[in-house]
Amino acid sequence: MLELEALQLSQSSAVESVMPADAATASRAQVRRLSEALIAHPRASKSLRQALGVAVRRDQVSVPVTLPVMGNAVQRLQLEHAKSPKVPQPAYRLRVYAYDPSLGARLKTLAINEATLDVRWEEDLQPGPIGEYIEVIDIDPASQCCYAPVDLNHPHILTRSGLSPSEASPQFHQQMTYAVAMKTIEHFEAALGRVALWAPREKTVDGERHNEYVQRLRIYPHALRAKNAYYSPERKALLLGYFTASGSNAGTSLPGGVVFTATSHDIVAHETTHALLDGLHRRFREATNPDVFAFHEAFADIVALFQHFTLPEALRHQIAETRGDLEKQNLLGQLAVQFGEATGRYGALRDYIGKVVKVKAGRDDESDGNGESDDAEPSDPAKPREKEIWVRQEPKRTDYESATEAHDRGAVLVAAVFDAFLQVYRRRTLDLVRLATAGTGILPKGAISADLVGRLAREASKVAGQFLSICIRALDYCPPVDLTFGEYLRALITADADLVPDDKYGYRTAFIEAFRNRGIYPWDVKHLSPGSLLWEPPPLPLQKANVRAVLNQMSIDWDMSVKREAAYKSSEKNAKIFWHWLMDPKQVSEEEIAALGLLRIDKPRPDKIGAWAGELRRIEIHSVRPARRVGPDGNIRSDLIVEITQSFRPSDRPDLRLRGGCTLLIDLATAEVRYMVRKRVQSPDRLASQLEQLKLARDAPGGLRSNYFASKPAAGEPFAVMHRVHG
Ligand SMILES: [Zn+2]
Repeated sequence: MLELEALQLSQSSAVESVMPADAATASRAQVRRLSEALIAHPRASKSLRQALGVAVRRDQVSVPVTLPVMGNAVQRLQLEHAKSPKVPQPAYRLRVYAYDPSLGARLKTLAINEATLDVRWEEDLQPGPIGEYIEVIDIDPASQCCYAPVDLNHPHILTRSGLSPSEASPQFHQQMTYAVAMKTIEHFEAALGRVALWAPREKTVDGERHNEYVQRLRIYPHALRAKNAYYSPERKALLLGYFTASGSNAGTSLPGGVVFTATSHDIVAHETTHALLDGLHRRFREATNPDVFAFHEAFADIVALFQHFTLPEALRHQIAETRGDLEKQNLLGQLAVQFGEATGRYGALRDYIGKVVKVKAGRDDESDGNGESDDAEPSDPAKPREKEIWVRQEPKRTDYESATEAHDRGAVLVAAVFDAFLQVYRRRTLDLVRLATAGTGILPKGAISADLVGRLAREASKVAGQFLSICIRALDYCPPVDLTFGEYLRALITADADLVPDDKYGYRTAFIEAFRNRGIYPWDVKHLSPGSLLWEPPPLPLQKANVRAVLNQMSIDWDMSVKREAAYKSSEKNAKIFWHWLMDPKQVSEEEIAALGLLRIDKPRPDKIGAWAGELRRIEIHSVRPARRVGPDGNIRSDLIVEITQSFRPSDRPDLRLRGGCTLLIDLATAEVRYMVRKRVQSPDRLASQLEQLKLARDAPGGLRSNYFASKPAAGEPFAVMHRVHG
């Protein structure tokens, strides 16, 4: 029957034109063309098409199509592209809570409760998800169970932008922690221009210290039943807790309902940042001065805060709500709303623009428009009524000095960075507001136009992205140990000046002013101007020819295209090469070493720092990493960052190590050491203040004590303690 039909159809000109002259000698390609013409015939029956289709497909598999060699190289390339057109690299589109589930319970914020993140595609993503950087493991020791891992490659999940947000679904928790953590990693890599590495596993074998490469950070979305979530440097893992909301002031959480920290964007971003920062600066885990731990906390908050500005719906909503004035109370300046409320606080865990205070209220007092008095307790006629209002927190010069506890001090740094951001945002949007108000700059009452919201949101998002980048890039300009906020300010200024020489929007001035307003100054500069805050080259420059010689020995092609393990290995190898070079008096003179704040010794030797006798250890190369950045002018800047450390152990305090060292930024093009960030090891002042810090920690209530003792096992979990204290 089918043969007959084919014969009838072959009468048409389209089929006839491809009919081979002799069926017996026809080539397979000719037969295929004929079959295709028959299939394309409008009167071909379904069964004929089916039968021919099967034959054509079989033919396609078995016979490789050999195309005639034709034309020049360009034509061949075009043909190649035409045969297999390039498909653009996709991204995993994954839904998450924009903030946390609590927003879905409020009508005002219901619409912005969900966000979709574009997460980098991973070729080999396994259920878990387990990818190149992250391994989500969902074991819940408290309830002795584990949850099936989500497979983000499942077609039903892949085509629907991931699982929809749900507090009750462990698989959604897995998806959300993975998505937010990957997004945080992406921001780091984009800012630093190289692949991110986790801190290596430190092992001691036969008295020798070894570092082991860690490929994946583990995330346990249901690790503990506690009001806590933390990064464990020991386990190279994020342990996220869950708990029952406290009864009286649980905010929008049901009293007695369960709150999962895994569903809080801010908490996941914060903890991932701790891990990334640890990968870059392992010694920032040692609280050698009150700023170090505060910095860890503050930096994790800064990243979490600015990441919110990359979520378009959430941003537009808040811009509309505040009519573009981000100094008013808004969600963008807050962190962990649900966590804060459910642990019995009023409002978010941290609010960097203002705070909620209780004030006495008259009987007829109306709400102040913030909508907050709705939550106040019902009035008791016998007692004067109290209401809680939100007030903007004005910066004070005493903020830094008076904040001695790590969280409080960290909050001062975040507030300063946020102030600088608000200042730049205001400056960059002044013209827009003037245009929208016919030059008055005063917006009329009521909602602002959607166009203005759109433009303001674009500016806010751009500035926030730049701030996030500057803050991350500055990490390459920090000393390897014992960081202070003043030094971080210098790092910010230098990092930004390196990339954007012309500061026409006053970013650097905004940073300096905001830091000064909170009482944060570097102690070693005479003036607070962008020029004088830049780091300087070593007082005795290293010989360029010799530096060039060591650079030539190293492999420095570590950028975004390199495999992470290869990057780690080459970094280890480069550290050895650099160490041998530094130890060679023919390459680096004694004076040059001294100018770096170091002492060249072959083996540990007795020494004295001030009144303290002890043992001075050898120089160590802590880290070698390249940094490539493209500035707004399109210039590419390539540097090698070398961190050198040296330690001293006082004889009567074997638990204490005074570490010194320096960070060098070496221009890869000119072999010039452009900047040196130095912390002298032989500094009696630093030793004295570190001992003081130790004494304070010892006397401190709570578990903070363990943070300061390198030899105690609890020192492995400093963030657990930090986060628990402030629950
Ligand atoms: Zn933290």
